[in-house]
Amino acid sequence: MVLPRIGRIRTHESTRKLARRLEAGTARILAATITCTADRWFVSFTVEVQRHIPEQRYRGGVVGVDVGIRNLAVLSTGEVVQNPRPLDRAQRRLRRLNRQLARRHGPRAPDGSRRTPSTGWTQVRRRLARTHARVANLRRDAIHKLTSELATSHGTIVVEQLHVAGMLRNQRLARRIADAGFGELRRQLTYKTTWHGSALVVADQWYPSSKTCSACGTAKAKLLLSARVFHCDACGLRVDRDVNAARNLERLVDYVAVSGPETGNARGGDGSPGLAGRTPGKREASTGPSCLG
Ligand SMILES: [Zn+2]
Repeated sequence: MVLPRIGRIRTHESTRKLARRLEAGTARILAATITCTADRWFVSFTVEVQRHIPEQRYRGGVVGVDVGIRNLAVLSTGEVVQNPRPLDRAQRRLRRLNRQLARRHGPRAPDGSRRTPSTGWTQVRRRLARTHARVANLRRDAIHKLTSELATSHGTIVVEQLHVAGMLRNQRLARRIADAGFGELRRQLTYKTTWHGSALVVADQWYPSSKTCSACGTAKAKLLLSARVFHCDACGLRVDRDVNAARNLERLVDYVAVSGPETGNARGGDGSPGLAGRTPGKREASTGPSCLG
């Protein structure tokens, strides 16, 4: 493998666990992928790991998780998981840089023809790319903490299906960031529930978790996005919109069999150690040659 000239390599995560597994023969490196995000190079290994899958245990019952825009997530227990402060700050910076970029002399003229972008535009674009990468990292880290907590403290976790068509249509930055976070949450929960012997239930894309009353089950015909509080006309329930959605997701488990097709990753506890499939491995960052123009 020929690598570009790299000045300094430091590992983002400790590689000692991986090294020990390789020595013991319980892990095998299948491939290494080199990517460049903003102006950092990464090496990620695809690793096959032999891992003990614990028997499914009843722990803390069912929890519904609603992934939000203002908050990282709201649980059916009423717990609100807020965005970490650095993430909020980085997102504000992202919005500011986006506005700055729009004001600079970019590579596209108003009539659509190509032109040489200004130094200022190139600088802002570089900062923007780095901030995008930082936001993604901070969010992924926060989601890791949440999914680990969920997968180890609850027997069954219910989330919504990602609405891909709606996601692609939506132009709003906040919405797109939340959707990206949702995809990451789902990805992490899929493998972590397998690791910890808990189950993941994914609600149908059209399940009206926001419009349905979590107390009496009456569905509203329309619910404005701006309405932060859910108010039921039938039984008079007043509750935070996201808590209501999370409670409906929790209730969904009563209706679907846990062995249904939506829970392909809900592993029945055979308790035998087995191959948990291919999992993304360590990422190593280095300050090397830039991949930005
Ligand atoms: Zn009601």
